[in-house]
Amino acid sequence: MPLALEGPLKDHPRLTREYFTVTRMIELYCKHNHQHPTLCNDCLSLLAFSKRRLERCIYGAEKPTCANCNVHCYKPDQRQQIREVMKWAGPRLLLKHPVLTIQHLIDDRKTAPEHPKKQRTLN
Ligand SMILES: [Zn+2]
Repeated sequence: MPLALEGPLKDHPRLTREYFTVTRMIELYCKHNHQHPTLCNDCLSLLAFSKRRLERCIYGAEKPTCANCNVHCYKPDQRQQIREVMKWAGPRLLLKHPVLTIQHLIDDRKTAPEHPKKQRTLN
């Protein structure tokens, strides 16, 4: 699955890394749980959704990890899906991509910055 990055993400190394991390997690999850060689349609749309949320995150480059964020920008369905993916793939990612995981854990220790005053629209 090629990692096609266009748009605002590529200007933010940390967001790019987060996108990369979530992509690896969804790939792992799909391969083992949906027996799909690349990504099944459900996982593809979950990934597309995650990318849009990252691009539109009101924190921009200051984005906390999603687990630490006070803004719940995921819809309930996708929120449930992505939680499941992360719960399953998180520990496995550590074995496959230790550096990526450690960077994510470091990010995870930072608390969310103060809520930006001007909220961008989330659609
Ligand atoms: Zn899948």
